[in-house]
Amino acid sequence: MAHASCPNGHDMWNGDGTPVVWAYRVGYFREYMEAVPECILDDDWQIYDCTEYEPGEDLDCWYCEKCKGLVVYVDIARLDYKRIPYDPVHAKIDQFKTWEDFIALRDREFEAFQEFYQGKSPLEAIEQYPFKYRYKVSPDLRVIFAFNKKGYLSFGYERSNWTEFSPSAEMYLTAGNTKVPYNPYRWAVGKMDIEVRIGWYAHLKDKRTIQIESIIQNGKEYRGRDINLEDKPFIVIAHSDILSISECDTNT
Ligand SMILES: [Zn+2]
Repeated sequence: MAHASCPNGHDMWNGDGTPVVWAYRVGYFREYMEAVPECILDDDWQIYDCTEYEPGEDLDCWYCEKCKGLVVYVDIARLDYKRIPYDPVHAKIDQFKTWEDFIALRDREFEAFQEFYQGKSPLEAIEQYPFKYRYKVSPDLRVIFAFNKKGYLSFGYERSNWTEFSPSAEMYLTAGNTKVPYNPYRWAVGKMDIEVRIGWYAHLKDKRTIQIESIIQNGKEYRGRDINLEDKPFIVIAHSDILSISECDTNT
């Protein structure tokens, strides 16, 4: 059980499953069926077993009931999305052929899907189930569109921030006066790392926030401005000084 803040700052708690969204990229299952053509879903092999620990596919999605915002944790990244309503529009799902297909279900809808997919392959389950919406994600991951059963655009999301956490990031759990350090991304050490990008904000382990101006040596050293000091002086920072990097200047 855990808490997380939504893209608009609301507190979400997943203890009762309320914000939990099960989301899967359909293309992954097409590849998966080629690798494991005999795969059948049953009590011993659930759909989430197919993506567990799979880089880029094991999505941890949270939905905020207050503002309908979305937070997606994947690998060492957190992507924040804000809901955008659309007036009735005639955009159709088949106009977005170059975008990735996704399916998604709220936790409370998941049990019915589980019952449906017993004895089916993961791809049959995804293609045959009457999902309320089918989703398309833009290649740059900036936009998510939801299409209704007739294939028309119903609503969407725009990315409001993207954060990546250093595998060496040490964070703290607080319980009363006690602070317990933990390393949530320790599993990623040596496997993946943050990618520092020009214009993004580096949140340093010593709490400073530096906007990156140039990359001196990729993965080693960067030049940027301390945004909280008058005149925003230039400083040089080391890759190992960075706790996280984000697209926008928000505290993470
Ligand atoms: Zn919210």
